[in-house]
Amino acid sequence: MSSPWDQPAPEKACVQRPNAAGLSRQDMAALMQRLGEPGFRATQLFEGLYRHRWQRWGDFTNLPKALRERLESEVELRWPDLAESIPSSDGSTKHAFRLDDGRLVEGVHMPYDDRATLCLSSQVGCAMGCTFCATGTMGILRNLTAAEIVGQVMALLVAHEHPFGKPVNLVFMGMGEPLHNLDHVMEAFRILTDAKGLAIPSRRITVSTSGLVSGIEKLGREAQRPRLAVSLNGTTDEERSRLMPVNRVWNLEALRRALQGFPLEKGERITLEYVLIQGHTDRPDDARRLAAYAKGFPSKINLIPYNPSEGAGFTPALESAIDAFCRLLVNERLDVSVRRSRGQDVAGACGQLVRKRENKESQRSFVSRIGGADVES
Ligand code: SAH
Ligand code: SF4
Repeated sequence: MSSPWDQPAPEKACVQRPNAAGLSRQDMAALMQRLGEPGFRATQLFEGLYRHRWQRWGDFTNLPKALRERLESEVELRWPDLAESIPSSDGSTKHAFRLDDGRLVEGVHMPYDDRATLCLSSQVGCAMGCTFCATGTMGILRNLTAAEIVGQVMALLVAHEHPFGKPVNLVFMGMGEPLHNLDHVMEAFRILTDAKGLAIPSRRITVSTSGLVSGIEKLGREAQRPRLAVSLNGTTDEERSRLMPVNRVWNLEALRRALQGFPLEKGERITLEYVLIQGHTDRPDDARRLAAYAKGFPSKINLIPYNPSEGAGFTPALESAIDAFCRLLVNERLDVSVRRSRGQDVAGACGQLVRKRENKESQRSFVSRIGGADVES
């Protein structure tokens, strides 16, 4: 079925000097070949970048000096800049990355004793237009490149001094619809899982989709792929279409069929994310319908208290409603967790930090330019 989201999002304009940060090993090999170097240099470069996290060509002591000097003049080595970093009282830190063209995206670092979880963006803005979501109100500005996706991971690992080898989980739950930028997300996935680099196991990487069925089907055809999470956020077509326009193209039944047809590995489950919004998604009947839906395929449920987004006109569910909702699902023997929104006090949910920053900057200059796009106050 064709949908408005089958149109590709705009791509980043080409830059002059190649940037080695975020290239795949094959692309690095091609770059080395162009410089007249043997193929194994690409692996050395890859190890220097991802294992040692060297950030200047001068640091690459595993390469001959002459090559380091050549790289210095001909090839860039640059991860995205951290434009703003706001720590939250719960230990997580919300970051705004400034990309090469000045545009901003968000990422979050969440530390745990035995691991860290990084929440990543896949696009600048989002085309899906969900009415409760701050990113949805921005529209789509462009896709992130694979290098920019990998760059968020590296910038966060470096900023938080995450030791090499300590487990890290990656979730594409920041700005953007990862399945609307699947080619670049998969390119980044291959770099992030590469055994010579960060070597992150694929089961530790999750893409979250609003229910873009064409993308789910495409992802299901990949031999190696990340785990799948789906934002359900509505249990009737009427409600879900109000919150998530994608439901007008692929309704709950079409989505269910796609999820039932998604080829899971042994023990793998699909996560259903469900945002609790007062009077829209938090009623006992919603919980009953969600339970029935979740039993249609191997699943687990992640309840997300709604984080109010300015001007959206929605109210978070009451604590008592969240408790009752959760209990009903547990009684149905479903695996349920409630995401106590980490970073909520620093504009936690998707897109809210960038929207806040835009508002601040636009108040200062009335019409400020964020990443080349005019933002009117
Ligand atoms: N586009 C993808 C991934 C990014 S959104 C998707 O929609 O799944 C990541 C999650 O944040 C989604 O589950 C979405 O429903 C949720 N979300 C968006 N805005 C929110 C808000 N204001 N409060 C709570 N959760 C929100
Ligand atoms: Fe896009 Fe996800 Fe926000 Fe919907 S919830 S607008 S798909 S980022």
